[in-house]
Amino acid sequence: DPDVPAHHQPPQRRPTRALRVGDVPVGGGAPISVQSMTTTPTHDVNATLQQIAALQAAGVDIVRVAVPRQEDADSLAAIAAKSPVPVVADIHFQWKYAMAAIEAGMAGVRINPGNIRKHEKVKVIGDAAKERGIPIRIGVNGGSLEQDVLDRHGGVTPEALVESALAEARLLEEVDFFDTKISVKHSDPWVMIQTYRLLADACDYPLHLGVTEAGPAGTGSIKSAVGIGALLAEGIGDTVRVSLSADPVEEVKAAITMLESLHLRERGLDVVACPSCARAEVDVYSLADEVQKGLEGLDVPLRVAVMGCVVNGPGEAREADIGVAAGKGKGKIIRRGEVLYTVQESDIVETLVHFANEMADEIRAE
Ligand code: SF4
Repeated sequence: DPDVPAHHQPPQRRPTRALRVGDVPVGGGAPISVQSMTTTPTHDVNATLQQIAALQAAGVDIVRVAVPRQEDADSLAAIAAKSPVPVVADIHFQWKYAMAAIEAGMAGVRINPGNIRKHEKVKVIGDAAKERGIPIRIGVNGGSLEQDVLDRHGGVTPEALVESALAEARLLEEVDFFDTKISVKHSDPWVMIQTYRLLADACDYPLHLGVTEAGPAGTGSIKSAVGIGALLAEGIGDTVRVSLSADPVEEVKAAITMLESLHLRERGLDVVACPSCARAEVDVYSLADEVQKGLEGLDVPLRVAVMGCVVNGPGEAREADIGVAAGKGKGKIIRRGEVLYTVQESDIVETLVHFANEMADEIRAE
């Protein structure tokens, strides 16, 4: 942006290939996306969708769900169909679950070369993902490197992590699959920084950044800010996840703060809607549409949440600036986690728009 002084310009980004996770562009200069991972049992579809709603209200772009068991694999189609943000299936050990995830309409899969060992299976996954047009993340992890790689490098070194990732990428290239993003996470931020630098020099795939097992919110956020922040400042990184032993909403908040700190993300108006689950008593999507229309052109950083029920809606919307939790014929208007009023369903849009405009005036006056 020529109007922005040089010292306020964001870091120059490393050029990468471009891909899409659902409707979220990744790499190729696209805005850096924020990811998080649900902590609910994936087979509990309602609980998982509810947590996705909370993550979306906090500003997440992409959500990952774990698939440790068959019942989790079986629930992926329902989650993919209802989630308002793209969902990626996180696969370890069982290549068949990766196939199930692709079949279920997931927006992407993550595989770990350290535990899906058969090269032929990786190629089968690549073929299926190509057919569906979805990306694969190669997620190498300091804690689960292949034994032969460890032996060759004498332990978990940056070179070992990069070798493991690139060998997997090459397997996918053999079946003409290039919609790959790569992560080489390590729990030591300094090792992680060196590893990603090496990887960034060695390929042009988009990179997903993270410090693994960072720990509780306090120290974990600091470690992540050091590792992820250092790389982002060098222009490395296309998507990020802050891994905390805490509510995943905290991960999203920390990641967004990192991006804002480096001028890599400017907040604007953001109308989010819960995915709606069996509890929804209104048509969440039309309501969100009407709110979006009512607020069109608002030029301030404001997150507005439309939630489908009064049971979990207020909790799930707590990170939004203003929101509504709609119930039978009524709606609770929630400002920064606090319920202000209950209004008739027919007044929801008007009331929400009124308060959003009032908050926008306050923000502009700050
Ligand atoms: Fe959450 Fe209620 Fe929406 Fe279900 S309907 S996702 S419980 S806000």
